[in-house]
Amino acid sequence: MDIDTTLAWVRGITAAIRRDADYLTRLDAAIGDADHGVNMQRGFSVVRSTLDGKEFSTVGEILTKTGTALASSVGGAAGPLYGMAFRAIGRQLTEPSATAEQLLAALRAGLEAVQKLGAARPGDKTMIDAFGPAVEAFEKALRGGAALGASASAAADAAEAGMRATIPMIARKGRASYLGPRSQGHQDPGATSTALIFRALAEAVA
Ligand code: ADP
Ligand code: MG
Ligand code: MG
Repeated sequence: MDIDTTLAWVRGITAAIRRDADYLTRLDAAIGDADHGVNMQRGFSVVRSTLDGKEFSTVGEILTKTGTALASSVGGAAGPLYGMAFRAIGRQLTEPSATAEQLLAALRAGLEAVQKLGAARPGDKTMIDAFGPAVEAFEKALRGGAALGASASAAADAAEAGMRATIPMIARKGRASYLGPRSQGHQDPGATSTALIFRALAEAVA
């Protein structure tokens, strides 16, 4: 994954968030406060103006700047969490291009940063339920001899399966947890935006 690919990833996320903003907000309307799509769209438009026209010498620089822009603009629960995730991913990638192995380690660091900050466990109906399976699937594919493209595609598939698996879960973190069992039957908005992020990665490295 080189600098152009990384920029394509971030642009791909921006486009996907813009396309699905209403959907993310509708999901959040059911179990939260109806702002997840709006929050993410605002964040990624700040990311775009932060990155536009700049030159980068490492992959990590792009992702660290993305994280900082998200942390300062998304707000809510997701802003600090995605901000930390992208900064943690970026910190690992200190070269002009990253191998699949380095990307795996970086994604794992991103997941750990979200878990450390948000203290959510698997099954709590959060972005972790898409992020965790995605990292596991990436690793499994890579260990099985798959190249970067196929590994990222497996990660995106797992993120989407994880996203759908949040539907029957009872939320134990974030706003949705205030609803208790009434949060059941609804897909988690943050797990849904995480699935968009992994699909955009798979498309960028394909
Ligand atoms: P807010 O709930 O503050 O309005 P958003 O609507 O932007 O923030 O984001 C909500 C999403 O944030 C949830 O769907 C969930 O995936 C994620 N989330 C909330 N709390 C946590 C947490 N402690 N750990 C991981 N993810 C969380
Ligand atoms: Mg919300
Ligand atoms: Mg909110």
